[in-house]
Amino acid sequence: MYRRITSTVKVNVPRLRRLLSTPVPRDDMYDVVIVGGGVAGLGLGAALKSSPVTSRLRIALVEGMDLGSSKTWGPTKESYSNRVVSLTPASVKLLKEIGAWDHIKQERTQPFDDMQVWDGLTGARIEFKTGALSQQYPSIATIVETLNIQHALLNRIDELGGVDIIDKTKVVKIGHGEETGDLDFSTWPQLELSNGRKLTARLLIGADGANSPVRSFTKIESRGWDYDRHGVVATLKIETGRPVVAWQRFLPTGPIAMLPLPNGYATLVWTTTPALAAKLKAMSHADFAALVNAGFRLSDVDLRYLYEAGAKEGEVKEQCEWRESVVKADKREFLPPRVVEIQEGSRASFPLKMRHADSYCDERIALVGDAAHTTHPLAGQGLNQGLADVQSLFKSLESAVTHGQDVGSIHALEPYAHERYFENHVTLGAIDKLHKLYSVSSGPLVTARSWGLEVVNELDGLKTLFMKRVCGLERR
Ligand SMILES: Cc1cc2nc3c(=O)[nH]c(=O)nc-3n(C[C@H](O)[C@H](O)[C@H](O)COP(=O)(O)OP(=O)(O)OC[C@H]3O[C@@H](n4cnc5c(N)ncnc54)[C@H](O)[C@@H]3O)c2cc1C
Repeated sequence: MYRRITSTVKVNVPRLRRLLSTPVPRDDMYDVVIVGGGVAGLGLGAALKSSPVTSRLRIALVEGMDLGSSKTWGPTKESYSNRVVSLTPASVKLLKEIGAWDHIKQERTQPFDDMQVWDGLTGARIEFKTGALSQQYPSIATIVETLNIQHALLNRIDELGGVDIIDKTKVVKIGHGEETGDLDFSTWPQLELSNGRKLTARLLIGADGANSPVRSFTKIESRGWDYDRHGVVATLKIETGRPVVAWQRFLPTGPIAMLPLPNGYATLVWTTTPALAAKLKAMSHADFAALVNAGFRLSDVDLRYLYEAGAKEGEVKEQCEWRESVVKADKREFLPPRVVEIQEGSRASFPLKMRHADSYCDERIALVGDAAHTTHPLAGQGLNQGLADVQSLFKSLESAVTHGQDVGSIHALEPYAHERYFENHVTLGAIDKLHKLYSVSSGPLVTARSWGLEVVNELDGLKTLFMKRVCGLERR
């Protein structure tokens, strides 16, 4: 460890000799400091410790929130967190490779092999089935609570040992290390923590989310725009006895998606205007459940009436039921199960935005996950992109250690940026265009997109290519 910490510090031979007899303030010095205990940060910590090549790196992870409760997380079967993600087969594969998947509470996950997506204005529809993927990947994706993944990663890290987890502690300032005696750490990032500690890092990882303090420290710009849309989430109790399917209907205000959870539950992600999001969160459970059912069934005109001119509080359910009774409904198999109950306290909303950092690395700094890019949730890609970053950065660091390189040097980090930047850029652009395409509510574009969707639905080869890319099976 002594040698590793000192190997790339600017020293000459006499200095090095003196250094070997001078104790480095090792407690506060790390090969890698990760800021952020979300899935990206914990994933990188677990990946580095799971490899014999990188396991000896001295690692600290700093997180502002309490990670203890995530580690001991023991929820009841009758409740699900409202923060849920759909993990692609590639992400599941990574979690398996680093030994975290064994710690996932499997009984709380829900793989699905059928996804129905349709245009709320024209009814044009596309269906994705896993038959199109290889037998190796029996599911399109697996729905998992984010807490379940954090819980698994924390337990895997605990099992592997060697990561100093400093939680309930914020990074309040980032500067550079000092020249202490014979040693010059002035190019190493130094973090000041809210508990008064200072940490010096050979490599600082920003896994600290969309408002990344690490990114601000490096002065890397992050560009993009706000969507003026909120993602309303909730845990739904649904009618049982229906096949396991993921449903998404594109409305002009944004898509409404119902993703399956086990035991007759589902999770809702309803992208809509900030004003409607506020209404959806404030209304009674019964009205909200009725409006979610209507969101998958009624016409845009009916829905707009219900949102705007509006049925009054308490009348929404009645109005929805009456309107549904007079319109010609799609066949039952083309519609999601009905919502019968809303889990208490599960409604929340998140403002949606698209951002992409100008670069992912600087000398002794790397950004991963939402710190590097944030996207609209309509394709369920955000965290999957973050996990793909983790895998790529981990491979770059493994290669650097194998070749005796300094893990903080830009040369060690460049392969990561090279591999991930363009890939993420294409995904962010495609999702952004999809959002814009489906925000159009009239005119020839609506006809063209519906025609396009139906044509693609008939072309199995094209659908397979598309699915392989979205499932992360193309790039790796
Ligand atoms: C409605 C919605 C639905 C989504 N659905 C999906 C989906 O189906 N599939 C998918 O792949 N993605 C989905 N996403 C995106 C996904 O949730 C995010 O991409 C993912 O959670 C980001 O993980 P992260 O670890 O990069 O960042 P975060 O989860 O944001 O973690 C960052 C961590 O850094 C910590 N931190 C920040 N600043 C400091 C500081 N100064 N000091 C210490 N700690 C700090 C924070 O406390 C936080 O824990 C969805 C997003 C939304 C909003």
